[in-house]
Amino acid sequence: MTDITPQPLDEDAAWAAFDARDRNADGRFIVAVKTTGIYCRPSCAARRPRREHVRFLDSPQTARAEGFRGCLRCLPDTVTRDRQAVAAAIALIEAAEAPPSLEALAAQVDYAPHHFHRLFKRATGVTPAAYARARRTARAAQALAAEPSITAALYEAGYAAPSRFYADSDQRLGMAPGQWRRGGEGVNVVWTIVGSPMGSVLVAMTERGLARIAFEENEQALVRSLPAAAIGPADDATRDHIAEIVAATEVPDPLLPEPARRIAFIEAVSQALLGTD
Ligand SMILES: [Zn+2]
Repeated sequence: MTDITPQPLDEDAAWAAFDARDRNADGRFIVAVKTTGIYCRPSCAARRPRREHVRFLDSPQTARAEGFRGCLRCLPDTVTRDRQAVAAAIALIEAAEAPPSLEALAAQVDYAPHHFHRLFKRATGVTPAAYARARRTARAAQALAAEPSITAALYEAGYAAPSRFYADSDQRLGMAPGQWRRGGEGVNVVWTIVGSPMGSVLVAMTERGLARIAFEENEQALVRSLPAAAIGPADDATRDHIAEIVAATEVPDPLLPEPARRIAFIEAVSQALLGTD
């Protein structure tokens, strides 16, 4: 299982998160209530005790070692386990040649498929299948530039069927694979960079889909990847539309590994831009 190290604890921030029942704080710390002897996750729905009756502890283990019992309402022990299962599934997807099925993933992290699907989506903002597809498309884009043929690139990226590859590439490369290999020859690309809580996001679009979407501060990598395309800045309306979608996209669980959070966020934005899921 992937190790998830908790952040150091700021008492005022911890109280604010607890007071607001902030779900993002779950798994970061545990709230132990001295008067009841019970510990909760920060988002527990139970009534808030007075601040002087509360202790913030780093983990359920610490709380138990100090004699507290887990709350039966918010089940604080399950938070860490859920996160670890999502992180483990991400590692499995990254290591797999082709996208694993939901059933296979869930079985490997010991959850029921339906429950795990919800859990994964809540933590990352995308489904396990969408996450896996995002990885495969990224591999395909790279392979198309490097491999001697489209067939070789398709194989390299883990596609089982050419039809799927072509369907994906239209939206996810913004052009046909052959055009992509020729550096975007004959393709018009507009790009913009908008802010997000996780950093600047470059979005480059064609009439057919997304030519590039990544955490980038300038268009240099875009220009390098599509040297033959006609590339220009997006108009204000397009830019505003993209900025709105990025702003409306939920940030993945802060305790998941950073590369996975970035992949998931980009995938969630891509889906919203393309109107797919
Ligand atoms: Zn509770």
